Amino acid sequence: MSQAHDILTSSAAGLVAAMEAGTWSCEQITRTHLDQIEALNPHVNSYLAVDAERALATARSIDARRAGGEKLGPLAGVPIAVKDLLCYAGLPTTAGSRILEGWMPPYDSTVVERLVAADLVILGKTNLDEFAMGSSTETSAYGTSRNPWDLDRVPGGSGGGSSSSVAAFMAPLAIGTDTGGSIRQPASVTGTVGVKPTYGGVSRYGIIAMASSLDQAGPCARTVEDAALLHEVIGGHDPRDSTSIDQPLPDVVAAARHGDVAGMRIGVVTELGGEGYAPGVEQRFTEAVALLREAGAEIVEVSCPHFVHAMAAYYLIMPAEVSSNLARFDAMRYGLRVGDDGENSTEDVMRASRGAGFGAEVKRRIMLGTYALSSGYYDAYYGSAQKVRTLIVRDFEAAFEACDVLISPSTPTTAFKIGERIDDPLAMYKADLCTIPSNLAGNASGSFPIGLAPEDGLPVGLQVMAPPMADDRVYRVGAAIERFLEQQWGRSMMAMAPRLEHSLLDDQGGN
Ligand code: GLN
Repeated sequence: MSQAHDILTSSAAGLVAAMEAGTWSCEQITRTHLDQIEALNPHVNSYLAVDAERALATARSIDARRAGGEKLGPLAGVPIAVKDLLCYAGLPTTAGSRILEGWMPPYDSTVVERLVAADLVILGKTNLDEFAMGSSTETSAYGTSRNPWDLDRVPGGSGGGSSSSVAAFMAPLAIGTDTGGSIRQPASVTGTVGVKPTYGGVSRYGIIAMASSLDQAGPCARTVEDAALLHEVIGGHDPRDSTSIDQPLPDVVAAARHGDVAGMRIGVVTELGGEGYAPGVEQRFTEAVALLREAGAEIVEVSCPHFVHAMAAYYLIMPAEVSSNLARFDAMRYGLRVGDDGENSTEDVMRASRGAGFGAEVKRRIMLGTYALSSGYYDAYYGSAQKVRTLIVRDFEAAFEACDVLISPSTPTTAFKIGERIDDPLAMYKADLCTIPSNLAGNASGSFPIGLAPEDGLPVGLQVMAPPMADDRVYRVGAAIERFLEQQWGRSMMAMAPRLEHSLLDDQGGN
């Protein structure tokens, strides 16, 4: 195996160990990832912007500090990709929208600030559905990202740029955001790990808001331990986000290394399965349940009766918040300005700019949300949805009295074909059937690979949901499953890696 192969397929923890042992320098590691991006990004379209020079300069300075004997952090020198919804000064932030094309943020989001402070090397910004609205990256104004397992299929969304960059070995780690499933569903369909932390667990400061009561940033990785290490770097209280929880983070790294589920009570949610779920998804899920039972977990069936209304409530609450958050894109303060010829009124310029700058899905949600909040309809729509949200929180509370965690498939199907759902919003929305309840309740939730569906050979994910501030339990179950995947099923991470033409991985023969 070549050095490039070994570097690209290493976990983040493995890269740090190799840098500490002097096997590879941070500059070598960074360069190899930049080469892989150059070779693959034209085919996968994960990155919207690559920051090669700054990444290499950072890498050299980390090498110098390590050589000087400085004790660096647990992810120091590891390359990372950042979803293009987070502000990072010096690179454009587009949110996947024409309306922000070329906009340069004047400051860093807290998450980026923490990555930089922990000496991670930011490679660039990754593609997403416009303003994170979608499940496929097809609503991005900058082209669709592709699934490394099959380039004709979607990598999930909205964070398909992040999931595909990690799955295609263009980064060992990435940052995603999750409002209704945008970390977990992309992780599920690309065979990677993705965790949505407890709401308030990771600062939203400097992340372009979609729906503020639901948005949460979190880690994307290829191993459970890597995800936990990244979670620890970005998590914790931030006074600049008023919803940030002022409490110590649960010890997610210890949980990821522990991976023991003996004696744990694990609830299978009745409402998240059955009709509409692909046979291969159900089969792998059933196997995962059996393995957890074998590992000593107590498996119970639990009903969360109001989950069947979660999607309807989400598609009222989320658009309501979208309609007010996106009012700030008024052509006066940021980005695109159309028709400013000195003759047109301010309102005309706003109308023309928003008309030209926003795509169809964003406009649909702004209209839905404006309607749901309008006087005369507010109680019937927004008010009812908030009541359903409370019922879903109560379903979770009752379930967590009987169980330590709840599990379900992460998404009902494997990756679907590009173009297959884009003209059918309801079919697209169904990709988030399993993930939305955790956003409405603000609890911790992650997706972990559990093998490939026999019918199409594509990855399937297991969702693990835990109460707020019990993120460690998500990692514990994830780590147990990961261990089984390698030991009992004999499906190591590399045996499950997608085969890609043009990749620098030397055992890759094309699809
Ligand atoms: N796919 C969901 C939506 O379109 C979730 C998006 C997200 O989590 N950002 O709303």
